[in-house]
Amino acid sequence: MTQQKKLLIVEDNDINREILREILSDRYEVLEAENGQVAIDILKKNKAEIALVLLDIMMPVMNGYEFLDKTREEEDISSIPVIVTTQGDDEASEVEALAHGATDFVSKPYKPRVILHRVANLIKLVETAALVKQFQFDSLTGLYKKEFFYQKARETMGNNPNQKYAILCTNLENFKLYNEAFGRKKGDLLLKKMADLLLRRSGENSVCCRYSADRFLCLVDEEHELETRQYFAKNKNAVRLDSLDNVPLKIGAYLITNQGMPVSQMCDRALIAVKAIKGLYDQNYRIYDDEIRQKIVREKSISDAMEAAIKEKQFQVYLQPQYSLKDDRMVGAEALIRWIHPEWGFMRPDEFIPLFEKNGFISQLDMYVARSACEILSGLRKKGLPLIPISVNVSRADIYAHDLVEKFGELLKEFDLDPEYLRIEITETAYTDDSEKIIQVVDSFRKEGFAVELDDFGSGYSSLNAVGQMALDVVKLDMHFVWNEMEKPVEKCMLGAVISMAHRMDMHVIAEGIETRDQMNRLRFLGCDCVQGYFLAKPMPVADFEKLLKKQSSQKPASERQTLGNRLPTVVVIDSDQEYLEKIRNYFAEIYHIITFDNVHAGLEFISQTHEGEIHATITSVALPKEDLDVFFKSMKENPRYWRIPILTTSPCIQTGKNIHISHQADDLICANFPLKELHRRIERFADIVAFQN
Ligand code: C2E
Ligand code: MG
Ligand code: MG
Repeated sequence: MTQQKKLLIVEDNDINREILREILSDRYEVLEAENGQVAIDILKKNKAEIALVLLDIMMPVMNGYEFLDKTREEEDISSIPVIVTTQGDDEASEVEALAHGATDFVSKPYKPRVILHRVANLIKLVETAALVKQFQFDSLTGLYKKEFFYQKARETMGNNPNQKYAILCTNLENFKLYNEAFGRKKGDLLLKKMADLLLRRSGENSVCCRYSADRFLCLVDEEHELETRQYFAKNKNAVRLDSLDNVPLKIGAYLITNQGMPVSQMCDRALIAVKAIKGLYDQNYRIYDDEIRQKIVREKSISDAMEAAIKEKQFQVYLQPQYSLKDDRMVGAEALIRWIHPEWGFMRPDEFIPLFEKNGFISQLDMYVARSACEILSGLRKKGLPLIPISVNVSRADIYAHDLVEKFGELLKEFDLDPEYLRIEITETAYTDDSEKIIQVVDSFRKEGFAVELDDFGSGYSSLNAVGQMALDVVKLDMHFVWNEMEKPVEKCMLGAVISMAHRMDMHVIAEGIETRDQMNRLRFLGCDCVQGYFLAKPMPVADFEKLLKKQSSQKPASERQTLGNRLPTVVVIDSDQEYLEKIRNYFAEIYHIITFDNVHAGLEFISQTHEGEIHATITSVALPKEDLDVFFKSMKENPRYWRIPILTTSPCIQTGKNIHISHQADDLICANFPLKELHRRIERFADIVAFQN
């Protein structure tokens, strides 16, 4: 049996109350109050259950009008319908009651059937309205839901055919993180603020909706679109809902040219526009245009072509060697995918990997690369070449596949390979996305004997966090991180600290993107284990890689070789004259490994990190600030580790140089204008003396 609905009768006259109760109590549960105040108390206690109020106007303590005024103000009881009972045909009090917010009226003397009908009809009406509201509007923000937005937007445009409109789509960047960091309640508040802002700013003719969790859509006229665009242009990167949150607001817009297009498609375009600027910190407003459209067309044709490309072996694995800095030997390689398309030609991964990560194809491609790596290894074995580990990239999308580790294990079995030959590279951003999952996957890989490398270390924010929380084998320094750090003076460079930290945690360090000899040598001195980069070798087809491997296996051991130029004697030059430094670097390129500094402190810091015997000579200019030179000579003379390092000074003028030279007791002084051949001769003379002393 369904529960009876509750009605509240508010009437000071006992007899009237009794009559009403008689009429209604068969169908409803009846509550009674003898004045307005008592009625309000009852309403507050039972607000969710009372379906309707029957109200007398003339009452002591609080009359019917006052009761109406009070209850219409209170949010939680204002929606309960009120039927006013009036005396005869008292039109004036009927009008007054309606003006105070009554929903309907019945007149005395009571006509039972009329009362029963009115009450039943009204309850039904209110319930239906509530249902419709619930269906049409988002309960948190009060904005339309998506489906009703489509309908309302269509109606609005239909009513104003000459008005130009746009669809705006908002994106609260980092909202998920905000929710996690500050909790759902605060997140909800932010969404409400977003909705309020839209309602206030989008103009009278707008229609707004909550499209998904943190996305809002708005139909606005062109004037308001322009106003918003200009506001965003003026406040580049600083549009936030409140000054404290770190959730920048971004907008994508679609300017409607053809009102005949389905509204859902217009919305899709605004959504695409806002997605196009996701993560770009210097862009906050983007209009859907031809460039975006072409990108979508291109993505579509890539998606259409990808399945066939795997079957037709259009994807090729290139290998980029990795070298040990201890003995300069190739000790590994990274597998990097290339797509050689019959029409589009040679494609680098940046063109298709991000799309494959989005559409899920990446998992298939990564398994293809892993299988190819196994085929390559098994090919090397058949040809009698030594095996070296090949690292494959595992996309962050892959880590959600429940059988990822199993599949890798099966591959090894199929090709009869040890796990040490197939290494797994996982990018650092995977850690930011879902740290628990990634930790679990890394553990499972390592349990099966695979070495796991953390790729692109230093490219994100969570680097140190990630390394602290996962048991890893190798950290791969991101190339931009390496380049940035290289540009800093030695004393501000973090590379050394990162490398020693990794070593303390039993991890190897590979530096990526090594493009110059200087970069390589600096990394060697900082204790980095391996390097990979264009300076040593670019990614190459398997056949070229095999040749390289063959050549290496027939070479003499490292101790007897001079590969990579790193066996050249190291000479440290400190001079503020950049031109002179450049001249020295060029002249001695094949003779010495020249390391230059423009100030004494950086030079000393570098020297302090070297081992005894590693530095062949130092050359300092007397033109450097006198206090700095004092510090330099003092440090070099005080520390026994440096005693054997020859100190040469250069001076633009021999006479002034002489005084400084003599007071500091440098080993030799040479005029900066002398031919560099002479400098070479002097360096060698002192180096010979040192060797003789040994
Ligand atoms: P990654 O894993 O960090 O790979 C290193 C990238 O740096 C490669 O780019 C490589 O060619 C490039 N590189 C190496 N040395 C140098 C250098 O000295 N200078 C410069 N400027 N670049 C250098 P590539 O091959 O274009 O690959 C780009 C990214 O695409 C890779 O970055 C990786 O994240 C992804 N990728 C490549 N192949 C695959 C794959 O099979 N699966 C997955 N999931 N991702 C892949
Ligand atoms: Mg990689
Ligand atoms: Mg990398």
